[in-house]
Amino acid sequence: MSELLIRCDCGWNEHIALLTYWDAPEMYLQFYLVAGRWWQRLWVAVRYVLGYKSQFGAWDEIVLGREAVREMASFLDDFLADTPEE
Ligand SMILES: [Zn+2]
Repeated sequence: MSELLIRCDCGWNEHIALLTYWDAPEMYLQFYLVAGRWWQRLWVAVRYVLGYKSQFGAWDEIVLGREAVREMASFLDDFLADTPEE
């Protein structure tokens, strides 16, 4: 298994993404979802129960600095070299 932990350029420890691959032609991209305070989670739950949907969808993001992009590019190159074609 190979994995790369990517930290957001803002420096907040909860803004992270994880790239993982095994010996297969797929890669997994996981984002840590910030839970927020209890009243924020309650607000999200109430809106969900009432069927609210944002016109923009549900997104989260991290900001990548140049070093993180370099590490990610190298990791993606390794993935393409190490795993079989479908
Ligand atoms: Zn951030």
